Amino acid sequence: MTDATHRRLIITGTGIAGLSAAIYAGRSNNDPLVIEGTEPGGQLTLTTDVANYPGFPEGISGPELVNRMKEQATRFGADIEHGVVTEIDDTDRPFRVECKDGTVYTADAVIVASGASARTLGVPGEDELMGYGVSTCATCDGAFFRGEEMLVVGGGDAAMEEASFLTKFASKVYLIHRRESFRAEQYWVDRVQEKVDDGEIEILRNTELTEIHGSQSDGVSHVTLAHNESGYPSEQLDEPETETTEHDVGAVFLAIGHTPNTEYLDGTGVKTDEDGYIITHGGRGSGQTSTDVEGLFGAGDVVDFHYQQAATAGGMGVKAALDADDYLDQLDRTQQAEVAAAESDD
Ligand SMILES: Cc1cc2nc3c(=O)[nH]c(=O)nc-3n(C[C@H](O)[C@H](O)[C@H](O)COP(=O)(O)OP(=O)(O)OC[C@H]3O[C@@H](n4cnc5c(N)ncnc54)[C@H](O)[C@@H]3O)c2cc1C
Repeated sequence: MTDATHRRLIITGTGIAGLSAAIYAGRSNNDPLVIEGTEPGGQLTLTTDVANYPGFPEGISGPELVNRMKEQATRFGADIEHGVVTEIDDTDRPFRVECKDGTVYTADAVIVASGASARTLGVPGEDELMGYGVSTCATCDGAFFRGEEMLVVGGGDAAMEEASFLTKFASKVYLIHRRESFRAEQYWVDRVQEKVDDGEIEILRNTELTEIHGSQSDGVSHVTLAHNESGYPSEQLDEPETETTEHDVGAVFLAIGHTPNTEYLDGTGVKTDEDGYIITHGGRGSGQTSTDVEGLFGAGDVVDFHYQQAATAGGMGVKAALDADDYLDQLDRTQQAEVAAAESDD
């Protein structure tokens, strides 16, 4: 068996939540080890312009904000290591944390801050133009395309909400959905219908995006769409009923959901919802980031499927570090009491 390195606190993820937790945990002398995962710096590294993070009136690039936070965390004693956590064993204490390369750590407490990954379509142009007119976050990037025509992809609540939100900036919003009927709640369908009636949104049903055109220097110029009245047109591109057209738009927003990165918690007592998001105790007062596993805390987008913003993820990371500190303090006191009791027995 591999010798495991012991740490007082392990944090999974170097996104805003993990790094905010690391800054606080370092300052509390909890000696945090932060494991980076496959996306060092997290989702914010995908954007060149963060205009709404408090304290940066001129905006800041995602990678620069993350690098500053890393510097701040290491200054207070956090260690940041490459690695992807594949398993956490919570049957005994300390926790056993295993990484993909076989490295094993033990830890007295764990903060899970492994975020959520936005789903993408995998169509040509998408990867190349991500951050250059293609985005997975309308709240974050909508204002950059003021006055342009915008395309939103999706049929759930998020797509409806994003399409409605984008009407603040867009000259027109096209909402495309691969089927006839929407998955979204009626509330959102009704809100969107009001905007359709006002001419602000146009819905294209049974339509899929098959290619995004443009360049990193000039952004998105136009998109290729496929339409078939029976739905799912990209599966029927060779059918004569499938019609392919080109549309000029200045931005494309993908709102087809996120996948929380929680697979490595399978087998633990951590409760997740049906989509895999961690359920924390929430509520008021201390312990809001606690999970059903004592000593294991959750923070950021891996918990929060609703707000999903850098500032909210950071705030939750701070809460998790403070909750972990309370837990570790209590653990120290219990261990000291046990040692004192054993010594008085001798
Ligand atoms: C394109 C885009 C633009 C955005 N722009 C803005 C903006 O302008 N303003 C704003 O407020 N928000 C913005 N957001 C949202 C913001 O980025 C997120 O809300 C925030 O990054 C969430 O932080 P997080 O730390 O919870 O998770 P993430 O940023 O998702 O970080 C997760 C971390 O966990 C790691 N990880 C995953 N799995 C494992 C594992 N198994 N083991 C170890 N580590 C693991 C990853 O490698 C990563 O380091 C944007 C998002 C996107 C996608």
